[in-house]
Amino acid sequence: MPQYTPPLRDMQFVLHEMLNVEQAFKEMPPHADLDADTVNSVIEEAGKFAANVIFPLNQSGDEEGCTYVGDGVVKAPKGFKEAYAQYCEAGWPSLSCDPDFGGQGLPELVNNVLYEMLNSANQAWTMYPGLSHGAYAALIARGSAELKQTYLPKIVSGEWTGTMCLTEPHAGTDLGIIRTKAEPNADGTYAISGTKIFISAGEHDLSANIIHLVLARLPDAPAGTKGISLFIVPKFIPNADGTPGERNTVKCASIEHKMGIHGNATSVINLDGAKGWLVGEPHKGMSAMFIMMNGARLGVGMQSLGLGEVAYQNSLAYARERLQSRALTGPKLKDKPADPIIVHPDVRRMLLTQKAYNEAGRFLTYWVGLMIDQSHKHTDEKVREDADELVALLTPIVKAFITDNAFESTNLGMQVFGGHGFIKETGVEQYVRDARINLIYEGTNTIQSLDLISRKVLLDGGKKLMKFGKLVQDFIKAQAGTPEMKEFIEPLMDIGDKVTKLTAELGQKAMKNPDELGAAAVPYLRVVGHLVYSYLWARMAAVALAKPEDDFYKAKLATARFYFAKLLPETAYQIRSARAGSDTLMALDAALF
Ligand SMILES: Cc1cc2nc3c(=O)[nH]c(=O)nc-3n(C[C@H](O)[C@H](O)[C@H](O)COP(=O)(O)OP(=O)(O)OC[C@H]3O[C@@H](n4cnc5c(N)ncnc54)[C@H](O)[C@@H]3O)c2cc1C
Repeated sequence: MPQYTPPLRDMQFVLHEMLNVEQAFKEMPPHADLDADTVNSVIEEAGKFAANVIFPLNQSGDEEGCTYVGDGVVKAPKGFKEAYAQYCEAGWPSLSCDPDFGGQGLPELVNNVLYEMLNSANQAWTMYPGLSHGAYAALIARGSAELKQTYLPKIVSGEWTGTMCLTEPHAGTDLGIIRTKAEPNADGTYAISGTKIFISAGEHDLSANIIHLVLARLPDAPAGTKGISLFIVPKFIPNADGTPGERNTVKCASIEHKMGIHGNATSVINLDGAKGWLVGEPHKGMSAMFIMMNGARLGVGMQSLGLGEVAYQNSLAYARERLQSRALTGPKLKDKPADPIIVHPDVRRMLLTQKAYNEAGRFLTYWVGLMIDQSHKHTDEKVREDADELVALLTPIVKAFITDNAFESTNLGMQVFGGHGFIKETGVEQYVRDARINLIYEGTNTIQSLDLISRKVLLDGGKKLMKFGKLVQDFIKAQAGTPEMKEFIEPLMDIGDKVTKLTAELGQKAMKNPDELGAAAVPYLRVVGHLVYSYLWARMAAVALAKPEDDFYKAKLATARFYFAKLLPETAYQIRSARAGSDTLMALDAALF
């Protein structure tokens, strides 16, 4: 049976020792009184919920999957509905929501920590509340006062859930070609018609109403993404007293049978003149939807962090107890027929790879979570601006670098189990299957890489990247008097220089031939991702070096050394690949493949 224990110690290490959140919250008036003990007790409780309520439904939910009952009705796996009721009863949906709409007003960062644990416990289940939180973010930013009043209290309490309806059969990455239409009605509402596919949590029996956020085109819409508007389309049209009323003509036609996340209903949604309300301005739907998508991209990073962690915990437990072969240096457990596989160098490589990626991923996602809070609530405008720019730069890295690494981690977790990992019973093959979608949805990892190099780095002449570079340089300067840090600072400086040169070279090449960017984007994101992780690991090493006697910090330091010695060198290959250009990719005529 798989196991999961919330990694509270490591979470607290990041929150309090790396991010010093109590101090950071003091500079944000809504959170000025939030202390470390309160944060710790919230995450402890969240951990209990994730481990005791959601985790036990993970394997059974995967086995059973969702059921399309007929006539638009879908049932989630056994236990999902009851667990969701408990989740709402305990107030978890409202954790970081605005108190004006019934929220508890805690920082987004704390919500991120909750989501790491929920995702470790059960990604498929977690997508139901996860999509709702995205709908909340889009509505609170762009909805009219009336829409907010009608929908937000219900979404905040969890009574109603949300979805994000972008994709159509012929339009996935390229949303500029969507065909769903919105015709104005005489009463100021719109009649929405079209078909959306792959809609996560699109239909289910967990909540009394489902609120779809739908991209569609108005009759006078210009072509492309500049002609897309955002609409709110409820399954049941709310009555004046807030209860779900008349059934809207938005209906689930079927659900997909898929590789992983079986417990989440991936739905085909038909809109047949369904009644909708415009959110924000006409033709400005993409920017409203981007609020939801950016949140969702960080959310996907949290999904993968969660899966990487639970896969690691299980492979570690197995590596400690599975006896197989003797250590190369001679028997370790002489009274046993063989040694535990954790003695073998390559098993250690697999475990340490998972550990190094998880712990840096945790630091990165929590840091980005804190900066999201700062970008909205910090008293100093300059801090708000800097945070906003760094979040924009780091979002594609959170989405693509963490999901790539976690897919490798879940795969390595399965490899540690040997043949037993391939058998369903141990539970680890599910982590590989569930982790795979995270590289695809919310913009594939290729699209994230193009976003990083084109929009986030080159478009502003490298300004955001230099802002990150300044943080790295300040840290390097601060460590100048600490010779023990040299082993971490030198490779950090080296990768920083290499990123600067590579960025300049690719920028030059792209001016002559745009295919150069398309050819270099994916390896470039891996290289920048490693620059970020080198910085984060060096910072963690600096804290760990100060406490050499304590086992927790000993492990941190050993993992930092492993990261620099064994994972960072991937950049040598990726830099060569990025520099190799587009010629060999584009030379072959499509007919000759
Ligand atoms: C389980 C699941 C859940 C989902 N949930 C939702 C949801 O809730 N709401 C929603 O709206 N959608 C959802 N999606 C859809 C998902 O976001 C899309 O599948 C994804 O964005 C990719 O679109 P596509 O599948 O049409 O692939 P395509 O866009 O056809 O892409 C195919 C391949 O071509 C590549 N490609 C495309 N364009 C470019 C380019 N310009 N440059 C380089 N490479 C390119 C892609 O990277 C990919 O490798 C979900 C999908 C799945 C499978």
